[in-house]
Amino acid sequence: MTKNVQQSCFRSSLLDPAEFTLTFELVPSRGGRGKEYSRILSLAEKIAMDGRIKAVSITENAGGHPALSPEVLGLDILQMGLEVINHFSGKDKNRNQMESLLFGWEREGLNNLLVISGDYPKQGYCGYAKPVFDLDSVQMVAMLTGMNQGCFSKKPMPLTSFFKGVAVSPFKSDEAELMMQYYKLHRKISAGADFVITQIGFDARKFQEVLLYLKQNKLNVPVLGNVFIPNLTVLKIMRRGKVPGCVIPASLDRLMMAESSAPDKGRQARLLRGAKLLAILKGLGYSGAHIGGPGLTFAGLDFMLNQFRRLADSWKDLINKMNHWPDKNFFYFKQDVTSGLNLPQPVKTGKKAKFSPHFLLAQAVHNLAFDPQGLLFMPAVKNCSALEKGILAPIFKQGEFIAKSLLFHCKNCGDCTLSEQAFLCPQSGCAKFLLNGPCGGSRDGWCEVYPGKKRCHYVKVYERFSQDQCLEFTRGFLPPRNWALNGTSSWFNFYAGLDHNNLHYAE
Ligand code: SF4
Repeated sequence: MTKNVQQSCFRSSLLDPAEFTLTFELVPSRGGRGKEYSRILSLAEKIAMDGRIKAVSITENAGGHPALSPEVLGLDILQMGLEVINHFSGKDKNRNQMESLLFGWEREGLNNLLVISGDYPKQGYCGYAKPVFDLDSVQMVAMLTGMNQGCFSKKPMPLTSFFKGVAVSPFKSDEAELMMQYYKLHRKISAGADFVITQIGFDARKFQEVLLYLKQNKLNVPVLGNVFIPNLTVLKIMRRGKVPGCVIPASLDRLMMAESSAPDKGRQARLLRGAKLLAILKGLGYSGAHIGGPGLTFAGLDFMLNQFRRLADSWKDLINKMNHWPDKNFFYFKQDVTSGLNLPQPVKTGKKAKFSPHFLLAQAVHNLAFDPQGLLFMPAVKNCSALEKGILAPIFKQGEFIAKSLLFHCKNCGDCTLSEQAFLCPQSGCAKFLLNGPCGGSRDGWCEVYPGKKRCHYVKVYERFSQDQCLEFTRGFLPPRNWALNGTSSWFNFYAGLDHNNLHYAE
């Protein structure tokens, strides 16, 4: 009974425009008992008693390191009458394992989720873990929506009632990285995302950018701004770029180092900054805030929330001090020098579109043979079906694979998505095999997994996109890869209507 009352409380608070909903992030460690587990439980208990925080989110193998599964801590916390948001990522489990877990979570009342791609898996038992990434976050949200609507499987299944949050990062340095974050957000919301939580950041103008972008694109979902209180240890780790997708800008780094000479090593100054950010987020029109930080105590949280209440009405005066994002980085909207925020006019994007001869050739072949309006499309349908049944089929398949390997680093998945990805293969180009847009882990345009060595696949995709293709991307959705097609000819599968295009031209 307590569970249901609390569950409706978080949802109704977040969906109520008059409310400013607060959530708090807990990070379980490796192991299911001991001092750290007790510390987290005791903090959760105080939060539950206090009542200002509507739900706690629980990370899942944060940073790609193995840790206690979120539902274990989640169940303990539900018993306290405090609502839980479980992080739900694709890094360690395939779609069937996801379904299996979700049935259990739903049965236990763990219905609030933060759906994310997940950090690339790190060292575990006897070495590095195998990265799974069977579904990306857009596909996971679509699966959850299907489960909620009961149209997920051909056989009738009991309906679920998952409340699905997703992430977005406005804290990306260049245009391609940032725009692909926003474009992917369109796909997440179309797939059924119910709310959004931003990446951590310390810049009022960037936080406002997210809200303006959503408004201008008529994407109407509640957004929680991330209020993260780093300590000095985490500052050092983040400075080295070791927390995927999280950036401490140089100006904040300098400020925190200066504050660290105080007797409390800058603790109060950091909490006060958190309170100011809370006030700004509320003033900007955020639906709420998601608070977190290593070692944050209840006393620290209480101090911050009291300061927030004191500062809430003077949020506009705080903006010029909450500007920790380099001016040279890309902002989607023009700056309003008077307020320190944004004007509603976007800057011009898409200036960097690169049309290499390789890309143009691939597009010409696609238009000719793979577009139903193309001259060679119907002859290709006929000849492919004939070839598939003939003795030349193995040679044909091998020829396709060799040509596509040389041109596109093809991985022979049998369900080709080259034409939707500016003729760049996501199976070889993206370390997480994501099909619907980038993860949040890229930094300065580099892939989270190969920093300084390999550009993010989606940065390269964006740089090849025309304006029309950008628009098309925001409206698209690629379903999960069908593993029954692995190692087969994608051309045969395309013309036979077996791949994701599901064409019905086959004989
Ligand atoms: S290529 Fe981009 S989207 Fe893929 S894992 Fe690397 S950073 Fe993430």
